[in-house]
Order: sequence, then structure tokens, then C-alpha cells
Amino acid sequence: MAAYRNTPSTKLGFIEEDTDLRLLSSHLFPSKVGGKASWLSLDHLPTPEILQCSKCSGPMLHLVQVYAPVEIEERDDTFHRTVFIFACPNSACCSSINNGNFKLPVINDFYSKDPPVENIRDDEDMGKFPHAGKFQSLCSLCGAKGTKKCSQCKRTYYCSKQHQVADWKAGHKKVCLEVSTGKKGLETKESHCNLLFKEFELVTEDEDIKKDYCDSESPSRSDSERLAEYQQLMRSPQMQESEGKFTEEELDASAIHETEDDQQFLKFKKRIEMEPDQVLRYCRGGEPLWVSAHQKPSAEDIPRCCCGKERVFEFQVMPQLLNYLNIDHLGNSLDWGTLCVYTCKDSCPVGNTYKEEFLWKQDFHGNR
Ligand SMILES: [Zn+2]
Ligand SMILES: [Zn+2]
Ligand SMILES: [Zn+2]
Ligand SMILES: [Zn+2]
Repeated sequence: MAAYRNTPSTKLGFIEEDTDLRLLSSHLFPSKVGGKASWLSLDHLPTPEILQCSKCSGPMLHLVQVYAPVEIEERDDTFHRTVFIFACPNSACCSSINNGNFKLPVINDFYSKDPPVENIRDDEDMGKFPHAGKFQSLCSLCGAKGTKKCSQCKRTYYCSKQHQVADWKAGHKKVCLEVSTGKKGLETKESHCNLLFKEFELVTEDEDIKKDYCDSESPSRSDSERLAEYQQLMRSPQMQESEGKFTEEELDASAIHETEDDQQFLKFKKRIEMEPDQVLRYCRGGEPLWVSAHQKPSAEDIPRCCCGKERVFEFQVMPQLLNYLNIDHLGNSLDWGTLCVYTCKDSCPVGNTYKEEFLWKQDFHGNR
């Protein structure tokens, strides 16, 4: 039990399915999953080049944003702070051990310390609040900065050719002529939800570590049962087939790895069993809960911030989130064991703009 007393407490993030999605707009500082990013700084959005997948160069989609103010003495600019994760939905970009298909702009500062106004009665009320679209053109499909204009109606913007084509097929083809001839205003209703990750509010609560979890330091019978269950789960047919081809030495080495890995996975499983629906674990300055003993970053693997300070672990996205994203229809197989976010220790001032931080993707072992 003592082992947990000194570690910073963890906040868990859960999907809230019943939220009025209008409440996830920028001025209410939401934490959320999917949909269009609710930008914190409304101007100076990241350029389409920044939100491009480093593998396929396609536009990435908003995956998660976490509102995470940091208290730093004599600093006002961390009072409002949001970390965003963007991911490429293209399955070909997701397979390898690489974080090139995830990107994380972080913003410190845009709003004053005034508390957000929460009582929204109708859409007209929403219209009164500033929106990133008032400061620049936004991609009609994904809500990122839009730098390309539809040449026909000249009123719809896109971040990329890909999103223009996708939107054309999704219905812009129909409305474009009406819009361009002035018969109809631009549609405000979203028809793109199927092209984005499904949108949800993310709510957090403190992790409550149950007594029996702390007491069970030595493996109990149920632990070995769980381990057997896990081994069954991880033993893919391909792995079994290839087993005969290994030399004895290789088998010994892999057996050692498997044991280490089993233990790590068991630890992971036991910790999340208390709250199996958690999709996020937030613990700035703490340690991630690894899903595997493999692919853990060493200190050198986490690059320092542009200010020269080291980056610290801030939060991790759990594999459970994959169950909510509604990604099957996107025709992809986005996958991860866990996504660990590392940010500047000092949350150094970036001014009224976005800055890229670092993400480490860990796969379930045997998933590569
Ligand atoms: Zn890609
Ligand atoms: Zn776009
Ligand atoms: Zn058009
Ligand atoms: Zn920094």
C-alpha cells in the first residue's frame, strides 16, 4: 500500500453519452472525444501542414482533447490549458510502432480567468459566444483551419483536398449550387458525423484504489487464473504456427519476455478492473500504467521541449476508447495499447498559439 501513497493521485476519464453536444463548445472548456476540435485559442489555429499525418500526408482527425489547467505561481497563462490529440484514420498508418500518426498541439492561453457561462437555452445563445470560425475559415468537414475554398460556391472551406472530396460526396455536391446561387444559406447542421470520430463528452473523477487491490501484493489463485486467461487471449494462431521454427535459445528468450509481459499486463488489468470503463488516466508528473513490458520509452526517447526543459508524463488514453469511436465505418483499424502524452514540465509560455508536444504509443505485445 505504501507504494501508492507517494505517487500523485490519478484522475480517470469516462465517456458521458448523454451530453448535449452543444455544451462542448470552446468557451465552456470541454474535455471531449471526437467530433470537431473545440479550439481553446480561437485564432492562430495549427495549419493544415501541422495536422498532416507524417506517413500518408493525409489530414488527421480530432481524437481527444483534455482541458488541463496547471497551477503555476505568478503565471496567468496556464489558467486555461487544453491538450489535443489528432490521429490519422488511415489503417495503413497505424500498424507500426510509431507515433507519426498522432499529433498533439497544446495551448495555454486565450481566455481570461472569467468563469464560463453555462446556461445555454437555445442555439441563439450559442451564437453569442466567440467561435474559432469568427477568426478564420474552418474546414467544413473537420473544423481545422481551412485554407482551400470550394471554387464553385466560394463559401465553403477545407483543410485539404481529401476533406473537400469527402465532403463533396457526403452532400456538399447537393447544397453547393443552392449556396452559390444564393438560394440557400450555408447549412449549419452537421452532416459529417460519420466521417469524424464519434463525439462524446469526457468526464473525470478521482481514481479510488480499493483496499483489496493494495493488499494483494503476492499473486493469488485468481491472479494465476487471470494470467491463464490472458495467455489464452494473446496466443494468436500465427504465433503458434511459427513456434516450431524457433531454436531452443530463441524459445528461452521469448519465454522470459512473455513472463515479464504477462506480469505487466496482469498489473494493468488488475488496476483497470476497478473501473473497467475508464478511457483516460490523468496524472501529470506521475507514471503511465503500461500495458506491456515492451516498448516502454527510455528517458532519451522523450524529447525535451523547445524551451530546453524535459517533458513529463501527463495522461494516457486507454484502449477502451476504441470501443466508442465508431471507427468501423471509416474503413480502418485504428489500434493501440495505450497512448501516453508527455508535455513540457514547465508548461512554458507559448503565447496565444499552439505548440506540439509528444506522444508515445504502446501496443499490446503480440500486436505488431
Ligand atoms: Zn496517415
Ligand atoms: Zn478538414
Ligand atoms: Zn461549394
Ligand atoms: Zn517548454
